[in-house]
Amino acid sequence: DYTRRVRGDRRDEFGELAATFNRMAADLEAVDQHRKELVANVSHELRTPIAGLRAVLENVVDGVSAADPETMRTALHQTQRLGRLVEHLLDLSRLDSGVVPLHARRFEVWPHLASVLKEANMSKGQGHSRADVHLHLDVTPPELTGHADEERLHQVVANLIDNAVKHSPAHGRVTVRAYAGEQPESLVVEVLDEGPGIPEAERHQVFERFNRVTGPAGSKGGADGGTGLGLAIARWAVDLHGGRIRVAESDRGCRIQVTLPGP
Ligand code: ADP
Repeated sequence: DYTRRVRGDRRDEFGELAATFNRMAADLEAVDQHRKELVANVSHELRTPIAGLRAVLENVVDGVSAADPETMRTALHQTQRLGRLVEHLLDLSRLDSGVVPLHARRFEVWPHLASVLKEANMSKGQGHSRADVHLHLDVTPPELTGHADEERLHQVVANLIDNAVKHSPAHGRVTVRAYAGEQPESLVVEVLDEGPGIPEAERHQVFERFNRVTGPAGSKGGADGGTGLGLAIARWAVDLHGGRIRVAESDRGCRIQVTLPGP
């Protein structure tokens, strides 16, 4: 029972012990609360695509709808969403277990980001992401180097591009920009798009798990196939590096900025 507290205001060692006990109990209570919320969120997030998939398949089995490509595509999107959700949850559980080693080393930025873009170019157009978005890479100077765990950084940038493509207008432009940071040997990577951006009031919370920006009808998203976990995972990976991730000011669209310190 984490809600129990020791009472009394003695100013001796017992008083100190009681205060320490109360602090620890409060911490445990917060962790327990967080865990409960996470389980509730995960259950909800899993239920939605499963219900959708089930409805589509039931309709086909009952002869209400034909197993035409359009119907099958709906079912496919739901399974893709489930797949992404499970992948993200696995990432998160690794994150929580704290067993993720960081293999940071010096690397060349341009070839690294070029390979992330190449992959993103191949996967855009699947599910809810647009095929007509143009991806651009701008590394200044071209021989720029950074210090990071390349696999983790790849995951971060891929997640950011994924979001940028998803929120882009037709034929929109997504730019990945890298340059040297203010601190010696630090590296800044930004992903910019021409979509609606993230409202000022929502910016502090988009990096929380399952926190998704409220849609026009007060909806919490979901229709775009997102999991609400991508930015939480990105922040975790950036934190591992001792870096910083934020929504930066931009006169157009969304601009997510990642700053990684030097070695
Ligand atoms: P999701 O799976 O919903 O995309 P994320 O954690 O990646 O989850 O993002 C959280 C929320 O932040 C998204 O639901 C979306 O509302 C908002 N968001 C993220 N990236 C962008 C972007 N490039 N443009 C506009 N909104 C964004």
